[in-house]
Amino acid sequence: MFKSLKSKISLIYLFLVCTIAVVGISSVINFYKLTKSINGLMVDNYKSISASNKMVEALEDQNRYEQEYIYTGNQSSIDNYIQSSNSFYKWYNIEANNLTEVGEKGLVDKINEYYLNYESEFSKLQNIRNNSGEAAATQYYKTNMLPSFNALRAEINKVTTLNEDAMFSGKDRVMISARDAMYIIGTLSITVILVGFALSTALTNKFLEPLFVLKENIKAVKAGNLKQQASIQSDDEIGELADEFNKMTSRLIEFEKSTKGMLIEERNKSIAIIKSISDPVIVLDTYYRVILLNHASEVFFKINEDDALNKHFLEVMKNSEVYDHIVEAFASVEEKYRPKIISIHADDKEFFFDTIVTKVRDEASNIKGVVVLFQNVTKLKKLEKAKTEFLSTISHEFKTPLTSIMMGVSLIKNDMLGSLNEKQQDIIDTIEDDSEKLTSLVNDVLQLSKIESDSALFDFHPCSVYGIVDNCIKGFIDIAENKEINLSSDISEKLPKIMADYEKLSWAINNLISNALKFTNAGDYITISAKPSGTLMYISVTDTGIGIPEEYKDKIFEKFEKVGTGDNAPNGTGLGLSISKRIIEIHKGQIWCESKLDEGSTFTFTVPLADK
Ligand code: ADP
Repeated sequence: MFKSLKSKISLIYLFLVCTIAVVGISSVINFYKLTKSINGLMVDNYKSISASNKMVEALEDQNRYEQEYIYTGNQSSIDNYIQSSNSFYKWYNIEANNLTEVGEKGLVDKINEYYLNYESEFSKLQNIRNNSGEAAATQYYKTNMLPSFNALRAEINKVTTLNEDAMFSGKDRVMISARDAMYIIGTLSITVILVGFALSTALTNKFLEPLFVLKENIKAVKAGNLKQQASIQSDDEIGELADEFNKMTSRLIEFEKSTKGMLIEERNKSIAIIKSISDPVIVLDTYYRVILLNHASEVFFKINEDDALNKHFLEVMKNSEVYDHIVEAFASVEEKYRPKIISIHADDKEFFFDTIVTKVRDEASNIKGVVVLFQNVTKLKKLEKAKTEFLSTISHEFKTPLTSIMMGVSLIKNDMLGSLNEKQQDIIDTIEDDSEKLTSLVNDVLQLSKIESDSALFDFHPCSVYGIVDNCIKGFIDIAENKEINLSSDISEKLPKIMADYEKLSWAINNLISNALKFTNAGDYITISAKPSGTLMYISVTDTGIGIPEEYKDKIFEKFEKVGTGDNAPNGTGLGLSISKRIIEIHKGQIWCESKLDEGSTFTFTVPLADK
């Protein structure tokens, strides 16, 4: 019957309205009774008392007219007596018809009897007065009538007293009824309030109990317990709500299963990819703790994944060069930090790894860790070494014949062996040109191989940047003046010293200045500047020349790389920048280029500051 929540709430209201009605009706009944008692008290007894008083008044008038008649004998006294008698009967009848108290009837009958006797005595008095005179009448009055008068008045007073007593006891009765009514209404009200409160609370709790259950279920879902099902057996709106809630949690579970499944699948895929990479890969968190490493890492670095997990990188791979590179990559703003070739010894062999550090970010772009990929370039390195050694040997072999060729060319050109015709002159110019190029190549190759083989023999000393750069500029000042190029340095003498091999660093700077001169025109500027920051000195060679296309900015540091190919490529061996790069790397520095076509280029490199 009471299926809906609305009807259940209406039931509680109905119950409260009924209890209020019970209290109201009982109050009305009690007040009605009380009013009735007060009415009885006021009207009936008061009427009897008033009638008795009036009877006494009429009787006293009659008594006075009797005495008047004795002394005067006038008819007017008899008339007045009769009038008072009528008045007496009038009040007597009122009282006789208003008998309310026990014994009142007896008293009223007695008054009637006494009064009839009293009236007859007045007739006798009249005869005595007429026949025997005033003295006999006075005597008769004193002996007969006065005692009758007193007796009658005493009876009437008894009626007054009876009604007065009844009135007082009526007042007490009314007081008791009022008190009873107060008790009844009070008790009823308290009972109704308590029962009403208890019942309505019980009903409200009973009806709302499913809501509390639902609330707890919702809380549990919020805390992540999606398996929560609300067991509410109710046909009302709360029951419907619980049904919808259960459907919703079921859908959430399905959704979570599919999302979780997908996530796990994606994660497994990523792990499988990392594990299958043939080069070593180590994944670190933001505290440099190992969170994943692949099989190749275990084999190469002789580490066990289970032992390595959650340990600091340095505990797992005791290689500070790799660690420093990772820390630098972490601190750098670049997403994919520039790779660095690092030599690592394993199994008494030297391996070369191109170490690539890539940051891992979450959806909110916060860094969550880094992936360190060690690309094994040992073979390439060995090939390169063999190539350099080969070139170096060839270059050595070239050096002596080249010197002879150059000397021979010089002798022929200077007409020491007879004069040349124009065609012979052209041929000898070309031979000289090519020999110079070959000499330059041989010199560069020899310089490079010297750097490679002598890297351990670099002689590091605290040096003044100002001193090195100033000395380099001096070597180019004439060429710059001839080309009308403004070559200058804005380096202060007061800058802190750097830790460098003076000669090798000069080679590197010379290469940069020489390039800048090659790719600038009359009126351009070449400026060399230096700025210390942290533990490093940043040295830049800036020119306002032709600039370098974006795609060549990294390439040009590789051997034999030049901007353009064939006839479009500039003169030169393409080795200068790779020599500079190698020198800077041996100084534990880095070199890079920023450039804009037709605006100029800036080559910057870092070298460590000398310890104070
Ligand atoms: P080289 O020893 O022949 O000068 P480098 O390795 O020094 O070769 O330079 C490689 C190439 O980089 C050059 O051939 C040139 O194309 C480009 N390059 C180097 N420096 C500059 C520069 N300051 N402005 C424009 N291009 C440059």
